[in-house]
Amino acid sequence: MKRAHKLVSEYMEKVGSRYTMQKKAIVDELCKVKTHFEVDDFIVKMHQKDNDFSRATVYRVIKQLLEGGFLQKINTKDGKVFYEQNFGDKLHDHIICNNCGRIQEIKDDLVGDLLDKYCLKINFEADYRSLHIYGLCDKCQKKA
Ligand SMILES: [Zn+2]
Ligand SMILES: [Zn+2]
Repeated sequence: MKRAHKLVSEYMEKVGSRYTMQKKAIVDELCKVKTHFEVDDFIVKMHQKDNDFSRATVYRVIKQLLEGGFLQKINTKDGKVFYEQNFGDKLHDHIICNNCGRIQEIKDDLVGDLLDKYCLKINFEADYRSLHIYGLCDKCQKKA
């Protein structure tokens, strides 16, 4: 959690934004969320904790953290958007079931290494990555 604050405060300074108590509290709360979450659920959670967290405030901070690369964004085919905190860890990719909505992680360094190499080859300086694979998970295939 300490590392998260350090990274975010450095980023806020870089972009000339204040790292307020509210932002710190949001980062604290994000650190506790270990799964993929929808922003509306998170807003409700923050608001229940403290009424001062308006929808607009939480949304604005989420947007800023996304710009800073501290959140990964996962889009499902039916238009839902999930987020996942990432304070300094390696980015990973996702496999999403179109039927049940299950999100699985791709945590194989081979994928990241391959993409890094590819970017290097075309001289592209990557600062964020979001790879999605859509289809049917093993359980849904059996049901079909
Ligand atoms: Zn499924
Ligand atoms: Zn993930």
